[in-house]
Amino acid sequence: MSSLTGRCACGGIRYELASEPMFTHCCHCLDCQRQTGSAFVINGLIETDRIRLTVGEVIETSFPTESGKPHLVYRCGDCLTVLWSDYGARGYLSFLRAGTLDDPSQIRPDVHIFTRTKLPWVQLPPDVPAFEVFYDMKSLWPEAALDRRRTASAAAKSSRT
Ligand SMILES: [Zn+2]
Ligand SMILES: [Zn+2]
Repeated sequence: MSSLTGRCACGGIRYELASEPMFTHCCHCLDCQRQTGSAFVINGLIETDRIRLTVGEVIETSFPTESGKPHLVYRCGDCLTVLWSDYGARGYLSFLRAGTLDDPSQIRPDVHIFTRTKLPWVQLPPDVPAFEVFYDMKSLWPEAALDRRRTASAAAKSSRT
């Protein structure tokens, strides 16, 4: 078990992560700005089954998307804080809102994306890759992270058949 724990604003939901995220996105797109009401979102990509609820149950809602694919969002049913989401309803892969960690400084973005809509006063660190839109996962992710993602995807496929 990692030392990564988090909660919603009211404390009705608490979770712990079985390991660190595979990779962490800092997304500056307009959707993320609108959905958070802030400058960007920090999403830790992690296998859904590595998020363990220790208190409470989340509710599933969704955000509209341009692609038409669902963007499922998991919240506390009382204070409605978003804790993680699932783009495209993959099931096995979740985007944990790293700002909900008890100590958000435990996770740093591995990449900045959609910087074309980054707010002009946000200064990016020079040592972290940044992309106008998206990036090539295979060239940026460490091999161990790619392995984890492949394993989770394969397990999800075999459980559906
Ligand atoms: Zn809550
Ligand atoms: Zn975004």
